[in-house]
Amino acid sequence: MESCSCGALLPENAAWCPICFKAPVDGDDLLDELHDTFRKTTWSPSEALTAPSAPPVHSRWQSGPRSFGLRVKLAISFVSIGITALGAMSFGFFFVAPWIIATALLMYATWTRERVR
Ligand SMILES: [Zn+2]
Repeated sequence: MESCSCGALLPENAAWCPICFKAPVDGDDLLDELHDTFRKTTWSPSEALTAPSAPPVHSRWQSGPRSFGLRVKLAISFVSIGITALGAMSFGFFFVAPWIIATALLMYATWTRERVR
């Protein structure tokens, strides 16, 4: 005895469910139809989709989507270290200590290796 999707038991070779009048579906026929559909499909992915991606390139010196090039990094370094040094000479290291920490963090973020490709 099969059962309908509504939960009712179907008599043998019933044309429809006596409760919800839905025509019973044979699971094996449905699976065969699905396999037929996939056999008829002729699409195959293009080479660009299946080709392995190039290995990533990391660099400290080259510019990438998330990092500046060498010239900008040098400019950032000279300006921020220069301002910090001027501050330390003018006000002493004690008062410039937070600024020195900020400069160190900026230098770390600027010169860390980033993925460029
Ligand atoms: Zn039913």
